[in-house]
Amino acid sequence: MQTRVNKIAAALQDKAVDALLVLQLENRFYLSGFTGDAGALLVTAGQSYIITDFRYIEQAREQSPHLEIIKIDTTLEDALANLTGRLNLHVLGFEADYISFKFYDTLRDKLGEVILRPVEGMVEQLRLIKDKDELVAIVKAMSLLDEGFQHICGFIKPGVSERTVALELEMFMRLRGAEKTAFPFIVASGARAALPHGEASVKAIGQGEAITLDFGVVVDNYHSDMTRTVSLGAPSAKIREIYGIVLKAQLAGLAAVKAGVPASAVDKAARDVITSYGYGEYFGHSTGHGVGLAVHEGPGLSSRDATVLREGMVVTVEPGVYLPGIGGVRIEDSVVVEQYGCRLLTSSPKNRLIEL
Ligand code: ZN
Ligand code: ZN
Repeated sequence: MQTRVNKIAAALQDKAVDALLVLQLENRFYLSGFTGDAGALLVTAGQSYIITDFRYIEQAREQSPHLEIIKIDTTLEDALANLTGRLNLHVLGFEADYISFKFYDTLRDKLGEVILRPVEGMVEQLRLIKDKDELVAIVKAMSLLDEGFQHICGFIKPGVSERTVALELEMFMRLRGAEKTAFPFIVASGARAALPHGEASVKAIGQGEAITLDFGVVVDNYHSDMTRTVSLGAPSAKIREIYGIVLKAQLAGLAAVKAGVPASAVDKAARDVITSYGYGEYFGHSTGHGVGLAVHEGPGLSSRDATVLREGMVVTVEPGVYLPGIGGVRIEDSVVVEQYGCRLLTSSPKNRLIEL
């Protein structure tokens, strides 16, 4: 973590700031290891600091031995004013995307002569490429999804509610080491599967319905994410048709992932397949996203994201087709970007629509 802090410290000059105030939780954790609910990280060209209140002092010392810990006596704004004064900082960078207007206003009052300068994406840029330790946690979190999927396929029966399925899936994976869910699970059956983000409801799953299961868990602070669409008994011809198309699109997307390729090219590879079958308008979201300390992070695999994929990025590939009133299909895997392709982190069966 010292290396990560050093990288930010070395980049301060380029951003024309003397220090960076990091408040965003994942960014703060990435650089500090500190998991407390309250506090800020201040990175300077020399020493860096965790500023937190008395509840978290011991925890911060344990989790962030590479940082100096400063206790807040009154407010965070006051503590920052003291520290910037003591260190003689003139320009303080802050994360423009994550600061409230009220905090900014108070801080500006307290800081006097210090200039506050918005900075974007400094820590997020570093987070794009996962190191070995991060990949270990991500692989663990992803492999629980494969175990969970196998288990839940044997659990789904006619009449069981979507929520019961979500709960069973969560319990199964948590008993095997998941700290928590990465997001509220999507269990969307029948016509509800036309909702790309149909959170599990009280609806009972019926015979002949397709079910979209989109789920993820957290292990050692890292997330996982996978989607499979299955059918309880024989599906309709329409669902079978769009399953084949979405699968083809997903395989095309996966085949496009490799270092050096722009993120938008992966989106195009998957989208072109769906468009060629006339379902382009029913695929209304981007093809994928990065996964790490957050379940949705950079890069976005969308037509608008020109980020060039690099080795060590972890991204999802998840095209879908959603037909209002009928249902939907999405297939999602997460992969690590490699020099000549990618490595699948989720490997549950998908090559034909599973009939439970
Ligand atoms: Zn997902
Ligand atoms: Zn996803």
